[in-house]
Amino acid sequence: MQIKEQIESLRQELREHNHNYYVLDNATISDYEFDIKLKELQALEAKHPEFYDASSPTLRVGGTVTKNFDTVVHNERMYSLDNSYSKEDLEDWEKRMQRILGDAQVEFVCELKYDGASISITYENGQLVRAVTRGDGFQGDDVTTNVKTIKSVPLQLKGDYPPKFDIRGEIVLPFEGFAQMNAERIENGEDPYMNPRNTASGSLKLQDSAAVAQRPLDCLLYSIVGQNTGITSQWQMLEKAREWGFKVPEVAKLCHSTDEVMDFVNQWDSGRHTLPYETDGVVVKVNNIQHQDELGFTSKSPRWAMAYKFKAEQVSTLLNEITYQVGRTGSITPVANLEPVLLAGTTVKRASLHNADQIAKFDIREGDTVFVEKGGEIIPKIVGVDFTKRPQDSKPTEYITHCPECHEPLVRTEGDAKHYCVNYYGCPPQITGRIQHFISRKAMDIEGLGSETVELLYKEDLIQNYADLYTLTKEQVLPLERMAEKSAENLVKGVAESVKIPFERVLFALGIRFVGETVAKKLARAYKNIDALMMANEESLIAVDEIGSRIASSVVEFFNNETNKEIISRLKSYGLQFTLSEEQLENQTDKLKGLTIVVSGVFETVSRTELKKIIETNGGKVGSSISSKTAYLVAGDKMGPSKRTKAESLNIPIVTEAEFLEMIN
Ligand code: AMP
Ligand code: ZN
Repeated sequence: MQIKEQIESLRQELREHNHNYYVLDNATISDYEFDIKLKELQALEAKHPEFYDASSPTLRVGGTVTKNFDTVVHNERMYSLDNSYSKEDLEDWEKRMQRILGDAQVEFVCELKYDGASISITYENGQLVRAVTRGDGFQGDDVTTNVKTIKSVPLQLKGDYPPKFDIRGEIVLPFEGFAQMNAERIENGEDPYMNPRNTASGSLKLQDSAAVAQRPLDCLLYSIVGQNTGITSQWQMLEKAREWGFKVPEVAKLCHSTDEVMDFVNQWDSGRHTLPYETDGVVVKVNNIQHQDELGFTSKSPRWAMAYKFKAEQVSTLLNEITYQVGRTGSITPVANLEPVLLAGTTVKRASLHNADQIAKFDIREGDTVFVEKGGEIIPKIVGVDFTKRPQDSKPTEYITHCPECHEPLVRTEGDAKHYCVNYYGCPPQITGRIQHFISRKAMDIEGLGSETVELLYKEDLIQNYADLYTLTKEQVLPLERMAEKSAENLVKGVAESVKIPFERVLFALGIRFVGETVAKKLARAYKNIDALMMANEESLIAVDEIGSRIASSVVEFFNNETNKEIISRLKSYGLQFTLSEEQLENQTDKLKGLTIVVSGVFETVSRTELKKIIETNGGKVGSSISSKTAYLVAGDKMGPSKRTKAESLNIPIVTEAEFLEMIN
């Protein structure tokens, strides 16, 4: 890959993760992996200043201000921290500082890096006047009323505090309170919260401050900013803040060398598990404030501070039992049922074991003590066995040979890591799974019918496959649990209305293995109707763009099956769409075959969505960003100037809406 493209794609990826993490509070990558990628980008950008971009993720702290709280500009910017992962990283950092400070003796203060929501609180004449979230570092949300409800935040200070200053800290939700909140939620039939960090930051944005007061939040402080505070060192800052009434954790150390810093890091890498709240590293700061001033800031972070990130959290626990789940396609997933254990702030009871090879690789057995780790993913994984704890009478795991649900023998084909139950038509979770897939939102999107009802209908012997849905009557479903007159009517109506769903989605709904949404679209366009598709052989299928032999053989197999043929002919008789619509047929051409087209701006005669559809029905591909592979940029009104500049610099033809439509017709 070209350096420039590599930088662009890293930026794009990090932006995406940033958005998911900061704006949507929904992490899509582990912090550790994110930081590695960010470092990679930083290194590339440092080497290639010619590709500078003022909106690069390396140049901003992350996050966009949302919700209806007032936006407030910070008195002083809230910076991010650079990350380090080794002693060498710390030594390099020390060397960089020495180039600025000369041979002055540098002292370090080590603090824990609390994992919560950062906050800046302004005090005037000893009174709390405002609390603001970090936001994008320059401005955040005014959450004063909510922060005031946190018991450990002083509303009135004591001692010799300066007349005006900001104090920074982290709002956290300690494990115990978090577990208690979740226990209550589960009791009330609500889903438990994912982790303390997200819950803490979510709490700050609650509209009702009384609800915030109910939450066991805590606020840990670490930094005072402002003029004439009289503070000369970080260590003194921590002491003063404690004196004035702030909660400043006692776990901190004044160090005289990076060796001492590493001692602290190593001690707390394991010691943190005894702390009441979550931490994700150590923050090392230059002690002397005068040194701090001399060192100053980069565009993103102070040069005088460095975060040392802990590795992903790991715990060990007992594996009580291995059970097996059967998926919609008959795939078997082994599941480790664990002695409940707290990991990264959540109680873990189950972990996926993926497949037989995974179990064999680690030699995982029932009764073992296993190491469990949580990265960015929601389901934790087992990363090893503590062999010192293996019971004397332990026996190797024998992978099941028969389906736990229907007791038919399992099959494992060459090159596939998974075992399958191939009792396609007799295995209950496969039968219901297929029907549930059929009715799902992206497939037939049947209103008034949910997954639990499908299970019920199957249990009551009212349906055996998805074609049976179309003959259900109100009288049949009314006796079901939790069904009322109205809901029964809605169910039947929802099913009846689904016959209008277009062919490509019906094809997806059939649940042919490996035929996802995109493949279904491709097949629908290539064959135009189900009869042609049903007659296609593997050779013809592979000739379709992006269809490989794996998909091809799965399609052929599906349509060769007598039961499937019968179900399809029944569905036809109920009026489902098995051909492309007239309109789709008419507009379909190959005019844009192989071309990637980017659409930008506002259009007059067609909407953006329609335009994209036109591109696709004419065989083209819609691109999201301009690259050297872009064939055309279709420019509407109010198109972003950066897109135009980029297209011009790459010599990509820019066409107007009218010109584009002419090209097609
Ligand atoms: P990051 O978001 O990884 O760049 O880390 C910077 C954030 O770490 C700051 O905005 C703080 O919210 C947080 N943090 C947690 N503990 C500390 C601490 N002891 N000193 C400084 N920052 C901290
Ligand atoms: Zn089965």
